[in-house]
Amino acid sequence: MSYVTVLGNGHLLTSWEDPSVVPSGAVAWIGDRIVTIGSEAQVLAAHPDARRLDAHGGLILPGLVNLHHHFYSALARGLDPRIEMRDFPEILDRLWWRLDRALDRDTIGLSARLSAAECVRWGCTTVFDHHASPSSIDGSLDLLAAALSEAGISGILCYEVSDRNGPDGAARGIEENLRFLADRTEDPRIRAVFGLHASFTLSDETLASVAERRPPGSGVHIHVAEHPIDDVFSRETFGATPIQRLERFGMLDDRALLAHAIHVVDADYDLAAAAGATLIHNPESNANNAVGRMDIPRAAGRGCAIGLGTDGMSSDVLRTVRSAFLGLRGGSGDPTLGFDVLPGLLATNARVAGRFLDEPLLGQLAPGAPADVIAVDSAPPTTIDAENWFGHLAYGASDFRVRHTVARGRVLLEDFTHAAADPAARAARARNLAPALWKRFHELGWNTPYLGPSAVAGEESAR
Ligand SMILES: [Zn+2]
Repeated sequence: MSYVTVLGNGHLLTSWEDPSVVPSGAVAWIGDRIVTIGSEAQVLAAHPDARRLDAHGGLILPGLVNLHHHFYSALARGLDPRIEMRDFPEILDRLWWRLDRALDRDTIGLSARLSAAECVRWGCTTVFDHHASPSSIDGSLDLLAAALSEAGISGILCYEVSDRNGPDGAARGIEENLRFLADRTEDPRIRAVFGLHASFTLSDETLASVAERRPPGSGVHIHVAEHPIDDVFSRETFGATPIQRLERFGMLDDRALLAHAIHVVDADYDLAAAAGATLIHNPESNANNAVGRMDIPRAAGRGCAIGLGTDGMSSDVLRTVRSAFLGLRGGSGDPTLGFDVLPGLLATNARVAGRFLDEPLLGQLAPGAPADVIAVDSAPPTTIDAENWFGHLAYGASDFRVRHTVARGRVLLEDFTHAAADPAARAARARNLAPALWKRFHELGWNTPYLGPSAVAGEESAR
């Protein structure tokens, strides 16, 4: 039976793109679709028998979108690699490329369920995940899809193809992407994109194979110039920047998702802009890895679409908005920046998610839009309107918890309480599984060659 639910008693932001604000607003939905928005009095008059959720004077927002996440990183918290990591290549080699090889099906599934629950907790209703588990590739994306379905949120998934574990690893990564792309027909909320690690771990042969076998229009999700090594290695080895290589292989289009795009020249931004590709800013991860940050005013000035991700650092998109804001000002030394370009990142996130999910109204609170809606427990102490809403987010909302998370009409978080699994019980289970994962991690060596054992004479470290 379909019944009406109304979320009211809040300040309602109608969309991320050119929004208006309805004070004392409300939104009503039936099934997975919004049917009415407006003042609470209007909405309740239209739906007098509705089930009601109370925003307690906080903000009612469209569900958040995260364009770049790594669910597999959930069990890395507190992990000591027991070796110094002096720069980003060493962070990859000594931490992440050991952790991903240590993952098995149990820890992939658990990491995904932990991360999906965190998305719900922070009001993210659509997430783009970039997955790696070289010792357990086949079927790994099904484990992520199951976690998303269980949590009740939408996801666009991929396996990151790389040559760093040899040609067989690259081939199996390609197969996992192709299998998952072909399978994605039954659940419209789980979609696929073709995953690639980064230019500096991808041979021309592998990219040629991907270009030949990838379904047309499937898009690619790839790290681009997160550290200078990606740019330098690509130029020296392949005679092209990472973005030029993607163009060479026909992978630069309006479904190309380019995470980071920090160490790039203007011509790269121009190529990305002309293709309609999306750059993804990950401010907290960039700060953590000390790799610099995307020059957002420069990229935006050259016409690039720019979105926002968390890159496995957390699942908290609103806090990442604040980090982007502070990082932009602190990093540039220019206190006039932020309000001009950063609201557009949230709009880009919604637009890109809508493109992959075939939901053009995603990111809007409007009749006919998917009922992805959240309430943040931050009652504005001053007027909030169409002009100043971003200030309320950057300075206020990011300090507060999400009270309700609704995805496609399902109430996943109600008054801060998860409708599904108890997060504390799940964390306790994770603490039981993590020691075995960490033990495998510590038994693995490092010095992984970028392009696989046959391509570069790398020494596997002796433990
Ligand atoms: Zn990443």
